[in-house]
Amino acid sequence: MSELHKFLFDGLPVRGMIVRLTDAWTEVLRRRAGNTETGAYPPAVGELLGEMAAAGVLMQSNIKFNGALVLQIFGDGPVKLAVAEVQSDLGLRATATVSGGVEPGVRLPGMVNLGGTGRCAITLDPQDRQPGQQPYQGVVPLQDANGRKFDRLSDVLQHYMLQSEQLDATLVLAANGEVAAGLLIQRMPVKGEANLAGATESAEQGDDRLGHNEDYNRIAHLAASLTRDELLTLDVDTILRRLFWEERLLRFAPRQGVDGPRFACTCSRGRVAGMLRNLGVQEVESILAEREDIEVGCEYCGQQYRFDAVDAAQIFTSPAELPPGTRAVQ
Ligand SMILES: [Zn+2]
Repeated sequence: MSELHKFLFDGLPVRGMIVRLTDAWTEVLRRRAGNTETGAYPPAVGELLGEMAAAGVLMQSNIKFNGALVLQIFGDGPVKLAVAEVQSDLGLRATATVSGGVEPGVRLPGMVNLGGTGRCAITLDPQDRQPGQQPYQGVVPLQDANGRKFDRLSDVLQHYMLQSEQLDATLVLAANGEVAAGLLIQRMPVKGEANLAGATESAEQGDDRLGHNEDYNRIAHLAASLTRDELLTLDVDTILRRLFWEERLLRFAPRQGVDGPRFACTCSRGRVAGMLRNLGVQEVESILAEREDIEVGCEYCGQQYRFDAVDAAQIFTSPAELPPGTRAVQ
């Protein structure tokens, strides 16, 4: 079962989260693999997309916001676009557009940043967005200020979180064909406490500068020692015990099952049938005159819906599906 765990380091300005996507992640892969037009993702692309999905859950859980968090990579290599979308209720979906082959083991630059023009966008799209209101969007390059290309998605997002929130963050991400997982450790601001403490204000403010909090640095160092293999194969309790056995952790009840991260796409066979009905019987029949089936793939998850001549005929005769104001002829 997919799960999200949050925890605090007792008395320290540091918090953390671990996400493990299992069924939610394999559903993303299954839908793509079943699409006869695209076929399955090349393993390296699947890994990137799984890391995006895991990171999306961590970032969505990190903010108080009602709407969709959309993580997009616009690539200039064989992967043109990769998208992971996570709703406030942790429903998620993901997809990627791939042209040409991608060798196993290829890293971020080889997939999406060959020419150095790849971009990563983080969008917050509120659920109750007013007409004309723009969603918030942050766009970051896939290399640092010195032009050194980031090897991994975690480098890109760590960089983004440092810049946008001005707080230290450490991120470990990994994905394979069964699991997509992530560990995020973040330093929390101590400013409020410093103001109350009065006399110790200057020392506290020193701790509050990027990279200067000793407790955070120690915990971040431990977190960064987690290997991708450990992250993928160990359960959450074991990971936390191995990494932080000397720290005092306060753990929250995990979010799992109906309350946890899970696959969710708005597409359905009924919606595709409605779309074909809008195309009109003549158009649908002319498509079926050229081919056996009509295949419609969901652009957000890759799920393919197939309608043969019998299915198509039903779309146009089913009385329950008639638009309002018309009556079925008996
Ligand atoms: Zn879909």
